[in-house]
Parts: sequence; structure tokens; C-alpha cells
Amino acid sequence: MRPPALLKQRSAMEYEAVIGLEVHVQLATATKMFTRIPYRYGDLPNSLTNPVVMGLPGSLPVMNRRAVGQTITVGLLFGCEIAEVCKWDRKNYFYPDQPKNYQISQYDQPVCCGGSVEIELPGPTRNVMGKHRNVRLTRIHLEEDVGKLTHEETTSLVDLNRAGAPLIEIVSEPDIHTADEAHAFLTSLRMHMIHSGISDCDMEKGQLRCDANVSVRPTGSGRLGTKVEIKNMNSFSGVRNGVSYEIDRQVRRLAGGEAILQETRGWNAHTDRTYSLRSKEYSHDYRYFPDPDLMPVRISRSWVTELRSSLPELPFDRQRRWIRQYNLPFTLTSALCPEPDLCRFFEAAVELSAGDPQRVANLVANDIRRAVATGGGGSLASYPIHPAHLAELVDLIAEGVISKQIAQDLVGEIVQTGEKPGNLVERRGLRQSTDRGEIEAICTRVVEENPRPVQEFRSGNEKAINALKGQVMRATRGKANPQLVDRILRKQLS
Ligand code: ADP
Ligand code: MG
Repeated sequence: MRPPALLKQRSAMEYEAVIGLEVHVQLATATKMFTRIPYRYGDLPNSLTNPVVMGLPGSLPVMNRRAVGQTITVGLLFGCEIAEVCKWDRKNYFYPDQPKNYQISQYDQPVCCGGSVEIELPGPTRNVMGKHRNVRLTRIHLEEDVGKLTHEETTSLVDLNRAGAPLIEIVSEPDIHTADEAHAFLTSLRMHMIHSGISDCDMEKGQLRCDANVSVRPTGSGRLGTKVEIKNMNSFSGVRNGVSYEIDRQVRRLAGGEAILQETRGWNAHTDRTYSLRSKEYSHDYRYFPDPDLMPVRISRSWVTELRSSLPELPFDRQRRWIRQYNLPFTLTSALCPEPDLCRFFEAAVELSAGDPQRVANLVANDIRRAVATGGGGSLASYPIHPAHLAELVDLIAEGVISKQIAQDLVGEIVQTGEKPGNLVERRGLRQSTDRGEIEAICTRVVEENPRPVQEFRSGNEKAINALKGQVMRATRGKANPQLVDRILRKQLS
């Protein structure tokens, strides 16, 4: 195809990308969208079906009110306008993943309009908070999920377990300009969903799916270029790579004087390329019409007010508050913030402890997290450790009863057993020793047995003392008070 005559050729540097994302998120409701049967990932195929799910004649849909409530909650999180009335439409198409031959969705009256998602762009280094900005949303609507097809060599299999699960579609404005921004948008979206209990957003389980619309245009142009929709990106990095590849492909074409075809392309994570799936379908192809089996939904303002009052603190707001209120370093907050389990644990422990919040955060973000990962993973709440344990441990450090090192060593065991830190310290005899005579004797021996670091320290290498301190701590099994050891060693070496 020839480019339009007016479009003069430019070098690749002179193009900018424009990206809009369409993100599907499965709601973690107990039952499906229009029928009272549960949806769970991983059950025996076609075991979570009934006449409504299978589209048998005579079956009728009944709306899941809680799913509408959760969609309103998502809308409130992102500052959307919540519709007074929304309605259900049939999106008609033939495909074996949907036996009714239509999907119940929302066409022109979605639950939510407008709003925006705050995103964080990568900072100059990992230790510094990146720039934040808002990506505007077009709408959020609610629909039912479709079944899952598995293609084998000569046959295809249909599993209708997922069919009818409540699914929201979050549509962004074409407000995103780089692959990193697209990635940041998804990261933020997922964090908001997880924190408000809307969905776990596990892409591997299909709980979050993302299509990207990508176009490029001459930098500074007010007009949008022809867009290509990319599908099948099955991970966050897949989205970043797919979008990045597609931007390059389009820029190469335009710079080479070729036009962009409006089409739907698939992402192949093995070849790292997009490939043409089909020319773009238009909404009129779906023959949308109001579903005659379902009433429009009036969303009362009192319901909206009630849902608003139970919104959680927004994740980025909480992160900023922690930095302000507890003086936490950015890296610690960014390690904790994506994980609601860790956030709750930290906040509860800080409340209970008289110790330094930064020490509490450190133990949660590093030692407790590691103990959970090595102890079989899963949610922290399912382990016998409680915030009160951590508070006690931190207080034991603050009171000088145990060293920081001993505390870190004990975390793994407390995570597994839930034993009270005070008990554990007494049972194991781990109280920090401030017995000057005992520590002096050990220091003398260590100085005698380690002439090398002693020599180095005396000839001006300040750091050489650490080797000696390490030996003393080892000899006392970590129980010696580190400040005292430092003082005694320096005196002996001077
Ligand atoms: P369609 O009717 O093809 O689905 P929509 O207008 O519904 O298109 O937009 C779908 C998505 O594509 C939205 O996220 C929107 O922001 C994005 N989009 C629309 N036009 C463009 C464009 N020219 N370039 C990039 N993204 C676009
Ligand atoms: Mg669309």
C-alpha cells in the first residue's frame, strides 16, 4: 500500500508513539456474573458449568450485584464518574469459546467513565522515586468472561469453566507514549486491584489480560496515526516487549515510506515479534443490542457513598505517607508497597512497637519476606508469626537485650513456629552480653591469634578492625554487645 501523498518521509527519530491499553481483570467474586455457580482457576474442565453458562435454551441470566459493587469500587479508586444507570448489551459473534454466540457486555452505558490511574516511571536509580503522572481512563465496563480453548495438533478443546466469570474491562485514553509507561500502567493497576481485594491479577491464571493499541505519528503532530491492536502478551514483560517491538516496526515502515495497516496482531514471545492475526473488526461488526433478558441497573448514590466509605488508602498515597511519617527510605517502601500482606503486617507491628519504624520495615521487607519464600511461600497471614512478635523482637533490640544480628537470625524460626521472641531468647541463652571481663578476654585472644588484620589496622587500614570484630562476635555466638566490642578492641590495639 502506498502512503498518502501528503505524508512526507522522516527519519526514525522524528516519530512518537501513542498507546492506549485495554485491560481485562477478573473479579474475585464467589460466583459468576449472571448465574450462581462459582468460578475457580484449575478445576476439572467443564465442571463449573450449568445451563446458563452453556447457553441452553430457556435458561435466563440473573445479575451478580456484588460484581457491580466491585466495579464501582474500582471506579472510585481511579476517580471515575459512576453512572446513574448502566445497562447490558449483547456482543454478537460466533466462536467456540462462547456457546450462546454472544457475550453479555456493556456497550454505550458502562458502569464507570473517565478517571485516571497514577503511574510511577522508573527513577534514575533503584533508590530514588521515579516521576509520577496520571494516565486518563476512557471507561470501565463489566462483562462476562468466555471459555478457554486449547489447541492440539488436530483438535481443539473447549473448557467452559471460565465462561461467565465476571470480567471488567478498563480502557485507557491514548495517553501512554513508551513501552515503559505501558508497563508502569499495568504495575499500578495491579497494585490497586490487589490492595482493594478486587483481584489477584495473576496473568498466568488469566486474571489479568492486556491488549495494547499502538500507533506512531510525527513528533508534535496533533493527529493520531493508524493504530494496530496487539494481543496474546501473556506477562508484564511481554507487554513491554510487544509494545516496544511494535513501535519500532511501525517507525521503520513509516520512515521507509510505507503505510500502517489497521489490523490486529499477535505477540509471539518465542520469536519476539508481532504477526498479523486479522484485519481490524469494527464495533458495528458485533451488532450490539440491549440484552432483553436483563434490566438496566440503577446505581443509587447511597450505594456509591457506602462503597466510597470502605475504600482502602491508595497504594501510592500510603507509600508517600510512610516516607513522611516514618522517614522510611524509598527502596524499603517500594519493596513493601506492592504486597498488601507485608503492608498490613508492617503497620500493625509499628503500632505495637516502641522501636524504630525503619528497623521494623527492614525486618519485614528482608528477613520475614525471605523466611516466607524459603518456608514454602504463600501469604504471610497463613504463618504463625504475628505483628506482636515482630514488635517484641524490635523492642528487644531497642532495649539492648539482643543484637540486630541475633534478631535477624531468629526471624526465620519465629515465622515458622510463632514462638514468642522473649521465650526464644531465654531458652537459647541469647541475651546480649555486656560482661566486660568476659568480652575483654575474648578480644585479647582474637588479637593474639590474628596478627595480619592487627598489623593492617595499626598501619592505618581502619576497615581491618571489622575482621577482628567478626571473630569476637563469632566466638560469643553473636551475643557480645557490638559497641562494647568496638571500644575494647580499639583500646587493645592502640
Ligand atoms: P476500537 O473501537 O477500535 O476498539 P476504541 O476507540 O475503542 O477503538 O479504542 C480502543 C483503545 O485504543 C483505547 O485504549 C484507545 O485509547 C486506543 N486508541 C484509540 N486510537 C488510538 C490510536 N490512534 N493510537 C493508539 N491508541 C489508540
Ligand atoms: Mg474497543
